[in-house]
Amino acid sequence: MISVAINGYGTIGKRVADAVAAQDDMKVAGVSKTKPDFEARVAIEKGYDLYVSIPEREKLFDEAGIPVSGTVEDMLEEADIVVDATPEGIGAKNLEMYREKGIKAIFQGGEKHDAIGLSFNSFANYDESLGADYTRVVSCNTTGLCRTLKPIDDLCGIKKVRAVMVRRGADPVQVKKGPINAIVPNPPTVPSHHGPDLKTVMKGVNIHTVALLVPTTLMHQHNIMVELEDPVEADEIKARLDETTRVMLVRASEGLASTAEIMEYAKELGRSRNDLFEIPVWEESINVVDGELFYMQAVHQESDAVPESVDAIRALLELEEDNMKSIMKTNRAMGIL
Ligand code: NAD
Repeated sequence: MISVAINGYGTIGKRVADAVAAQDDMKVAGVSKTKPDFEARVAIEKGYDLYVSIPEREKLFDEAGIPVSGTVEDMLEEADIVVDATPEGIGAKNLEMYREKGIKAIFQGGEKHDAIGLSFNSFANYDESLGADYTRVVSCNTTGLCRTLKPIDDLCGIKKVRAVMVRRGADPVQVKKGPINAIVPNPPTVPSHHGPDLKTVMKGVNIHTVALLVPTTLMHQHNIMVELEDPVEADEIKARLDETTRVMLVRASEGLASTAEIMEYAKELGRSRNDLFEIPVWEESINVVDGELFYMQAVHQESDAVPESVDAIRALLELEEDNMKSIMKTNRAMGIL
């Protein structure tokens, strides 16, 4: 049984911890917190060993009556591998500590590809991370693009992709972020970084993206246009996406006409935290016009890349050589459709 440390128990870290705990070939060695807040208390109630990220703050945890098992360095001693889910840029700084400890590490999409040297998606390039010391699970948006573009590329080849990424202004818990009443080209420069990020896992794909921020916290939404190598009918694309795991076709005609209704569907599925690990694609939006494919999809930014972190653990530790075996194992444990 592999022991996994989670450094940074926030939006992504707490989901990765639960996803790891659900697997039968790995367990949580511990989770780390910077503050003795409600998440720290819940982590203890869930049975996770809690470690402090900033040693000088241990006293604050004592005062709050939240027991800790030591510092992050102590946690790393208990683990075979660490998933770093600290805020953007901190993961790359932690790399030195992981190197000194001789522990393998998985980073999140907020880190730059060049800082880690390798990026990961379960479908596109699992093999590249087999046995590696470090890898980076690409961001929620890039994971979303990869989930649908990879099966389309496999089906009929991709000549060129253009995508307009409508991004949520903040996660639901981020009360100080916005915009509240504006549409913000973000970045204002064109193209955005999402295309180059996709190329770190889907090598050679010809893609350019533009992105904007809007006042919503629920999901991102992508509008994707693909020039295809081989002619296909829209129905063949629908069938391929329908049979692709971690992708789901949804119908506006069934009341799933918006990200709000899709999040309501996730609640109906009874998922913990209302998570939607799958990428929903609006079936009605899939159309081929003059050899160009159009479709629209959404991304639950807080959860879509979480199963990829579990697969990345298996790749780095060579627990599973075959990506589909890991994907199906992760899916079964997490109840993914
Ligand atoms: P978050 O702020 O919700 O959680 C980060 C956690 O790390 C917090 O609990 C924070 O207290 C803790 N932390 C801060 N400094 C630390 C340190 N020095 N050592 C250990 N822990 C520390 O952030 P998040 O949204 O979970 O993002 C984590 C990573 O995942 C980032 O790289 C981000 O870009 C990426 N990501 C985020 C989303 C998203 O939508 N939230 C989606 C995909 C990927």
